[in-house]
Amino acid sequence: MKNTSSFSNNSDNQFRCANCNQIVSSEGGNTSHRNHCPFCGYSLHVDETKGDRKSDCNSKMKPIALAFKSGGELCFVHKCLGCGKINYNRIAADDSSDMIKKVFDSSLTLNKDNLPSLEINGIKILDKEDSIELSKQLYGI
Ligand SMILES: [Zn+2]
Ligand SMILES: [Zn+2]
Repeated sequence: MKNTSSFSNNSDNQFRCANCNQIVSSEGGNTSHRNHCPFCGYSLHVDETKGDRKSDCNSKMKPIALAFKSGGELCFVHKCLGCGKINYNRIAADDSSDMIKKVFDSSLTLNKDNLPSLEINGIKILDKEDSIELSKQLYGI
């Protein structure tokens, strides 16, 4: 076992964000399979179904909104800038609170008609009325 550069290409432990270019550890934030950047929230379209890495799209996925899954867990709604696919990703413990807040703020100007019916699977997109609950989860206030 050679101790080579931690930047080796075959390492699954980190990746460079395709959007903001920061090095991201895929094991941070209490999750062993981080799939989005904690600084800008962008993800990559690499999965057809969660975790399978079977998509050959590989386009950037933009965090366009926040949602509550059934049970109240906060997650991102990611939209692929290449093919338009929508994904949900749980928010990690080390995601920037300010970045999450920014996603929320910009989602308020989003035309919800452009989103697929998200109410299925018990997913609820956050809107203005949810900002208090969001502040609680992000900042504890
Ligand atoms: Zn980033
Ligand atoms: Zn795509």
